Amino acid sequence: MTKPSKEKSTATPEAVQADSLKLTRFIHIYCEAHHKDRPRKVFSFDYNRLPAVIHNGPELCEECSRLLRHAIVMRALCPLDPKPKCRNCPQHCYRPEHRAAMERVMKYSGPRYLFRKR
Ligand SMILES: [Zn+2]
Repeated sequence: MTKPSKEKSTATPEAVQADSLKLTRFIHIYCEAHHKDRPRKVFSFDYNRLPAVIHNGPELCEECSRLLRHAIVMRALCPLDPKPKCRNCPQHCYRPEHRAAMERVMKYSGPRYLFRKR
């Protein structure tokens, strides 16, 4: 466990937004590969007072939309600064079912995300 230091803040609105977009990409890659047969809707996220805003996001199924919404809220509310990688986090904030789903998404989309980047 590391103590939060004030050196570089990861809690700026810009950082939260950047991470939210990353989460969106991850879940989109996963959903495209696994849930092609489900009905999907354009994802958007715009909650009062949270710095993450996504309009006209990718199409996601209901389950992935819920997971992504949860992930973004948790990211925006993360009290740790600088934020550790979630897998190293001393206080897991995800609800257990979302945590398991997110682990599957990360495992699948992680390598593909890097590959797709450019
Ligand atoms: Zn999905």
